[in-house]
Amino acid sequence: MKSVLITILTTFSFFPAQTLDSLINKKADMIIKSALTEQIGYQLLEELTELGGRVSGSASSLSAINWAKLKMEELGLANVYLQEAMVPHWVRNDIESAEIRFKKIRMANRSLNIAALGGSIGTPAEGIVGNVLEVKNFKELETRKAEAKGKIIFYNRAFDNTNVNPFISYGMAVDQRVFGAIEASKYGAKAVIVRSVTSKPDNTPHVGVMRYADSLAKIPACAIGVQDADFLSGMLKTDPDLQISIKLNCENLPEIMSYNVIGEIEGSEYPDEIIVIGGHLDAWDKGSGAHDDGGGCMQSIDALLLLKAVGYTPKRTIRCVLFTNEENGSGGAEAYADSALKSGEKHIAGIESDRGLGTPRGFSVTADSLTLKKMNSWLPLLNKSLIDWIRPGGSGADIGKIKNMQAYIGYVPDSQRYFDYHHSANDTFDVVHPREMQLGSASMAILLMLISEYGI
Ligand SMILES: [Zn+2]
Repeated sequence: MKSVLITILTTFSFFPAQTLDSLINKKADMIIKSALTEQIGYQLLEELTELGGRVSGSASSLSAINWAKLKMEELGLANVYLQEAMVPHWVRNDIESAEIRFKKIRMANRSLNIAALGGSIGTPAEGIVGNVLEVKNFKELETRKAEAKGKIIFYNRAFDNTNVNPFISYGMAVDQRVFGAIEASKYGAKAVIVRSVTSKPDNTPHVGVMRYADSLAKIPACAIGVQDADFLSGMLKTDPDLQISIKLNCENLPEIMSYNVIGEIEGSEYPDEIIVIGGHLDAWDKGSGAHDDGGGCMQSIDALLLLKAVGYTPKRTIRCVLFTNEENGSGGAEAYADSALKSGEKHIAGIESDRGLGTPRGFSVTADSLTLKKMNSWLPLLNKSLIDWIRPGGSGADIGKIKNMQAYIGYVPDSQRYFDYHHSANDTFDVVHPREMQLGSASMAILLMLISEYGI
């Protein structure tokens, strides 16, 4: 009897594939069930979003960092620690207003819904008043540069709704926000107002990072809600001499220390092979950064917890990293990548969730064709949580900094509503759907399990 048992065990260890596959298949079902019923990631997101805005370097971002560390410890992740990273320290402060002063039309001053762009300097206390030059793009500005001096440049290029993929529309419009102040400053403009880069036709300003050039004068920059952008554009047609006054008291303070939050499950067979999963914990402050990217961070923690919940012991180390400072720098990503390089740790794959919390669609992967082929062979299992495809493509700004990984993987959910919320007061916990978010946690947990089990 004993020898028969030994034979069975030996056979098992020599021919594990089929047995393991069915076990992994079963674990995948358990992961999905647990994700949809327990909804741990969604509950964590509710707690996180109650802590306030998370702009890099802010006191409330530090609260979120400390909270996340405590949660990782409480929930049983191993080797939890904070990793230092220097970050910019931009502060919005409390004054942001703009109004139209009509010249030709008999109308009282009309206020505009604006918000300072991240990194913008403030205006003098009395504000900036100027005539307005409306342009659609930098080429038009260049053509009309003689008119730009002393003006407020109003970039009014709309989000192009003809694209099925809203990330393409975002990419086509976001240059005016990021580089608008630099281009306007070249021609002596005194401030810029940028039409919000959003798919939602409400009047909420959508902010985001903007840049200056050291060689040019720094001028204030703000976003304007799309309804007010349309209103302003209409008024300029009948009253081209109207003026706008803008007041902002945002400011750039010296760089400050922030932290990545790190926790992991150690691998049982190949602990030196690391699979990273993460998102960025910093967020713009008008909303609570639920979709961008508190949710991606909470899905990352959740994915590790799901593996624990179903009793899966990873062969390789699975590490969750909540990066700081993705939005207005890459301080967190650089600190992590530098430390990984210096310590000589072997990172085999990274997964980033930073495209919102819609229903799962696919994984966008930077890897060689063999790796992509291997990952595609896992689709039948990933289909269970609605992952339809694995394609070559970009991954994410944070894991993208890590050197020499075999696969850089971006989680891609449905994104039709993402730019309704992105970087605005609309990005709050109540616009997150628990089932959609949790299916994302499940998809990433299953992928982590597959990479951990079979390598990449
Ligand atoms: Zn993001």
